[in-house]
Amino acid sequence: MAQYAKPLANLIRELSRLPGIGGKSAQRLAFHILSMDDREAEMLANSILRAKSAMKYCSVCGNLTDKDPCGICSDPNRDRRTICVVEQAKDVAAMERMKEYNGLYHVLHGAISPMDGVGPEDINLKQLILRLQQDDVREVILATNPTIEGEATAMYTARLIKPSGIRVTRIAHGIPVGGDLEYTDEVTLSKAMEGRRDL
Ligand SMILES: [Zn+2]
Repeated sequence: MAQYAKPLANLIRELSRLPGIGGKSAQRLAFHILSMDDREAEMLANSILRAKSAMKYCSVCGNLTDKDPCGICSDPNRDRRTICVVEQAKDVAAMERMKEYNGLYHVLHGAISPMDGVGPEDINLKQLILRLQQDDVREVILATNPTIEGEATAMYTARLIKPSGIRVTRIAHGIPVGGDLEYTDEVTLSKAMEGRRDL
């Protein structure tokens, strides 16, 4: 990127670090940002800073929130006896888009992956077990992704919970293997929840 002056080259470099943004997209975005008026650019920059400082992880479920506990955990109308376990906070958003699930969530912030050196202690599992010990939970729905890591995580978590007598279910495979919950449409996701089976 030697052809660009340093401030522009820096902006392109930072943008290209974002997921799904290649070099060309980063250049296009950078030029677009520079064409904005000062106020617009300031709003963009400030919204990044504000979101970054205001958003945190819910101390109960691990979801992204601006208040702790999050809106879902503190909603009296949600069914507190069901917890849906997902890998990432963005998966909660996907489930919520479906508008059918009314239980609580638990975000693991990852999946067990021995290949990448990620063990059970590296994901948010301890907090889940704590919740199951403290609260009256009747069912845990394992909605980790249908990938090798997601399946391994579901199996491990099921084995961990089963002795407690709590019902453990796994969502059905309407979701393509290797797929991502985040990109699954609401109908498929809804079917996957309906067709969940006991583990
Ligand atoms: Zn929460």
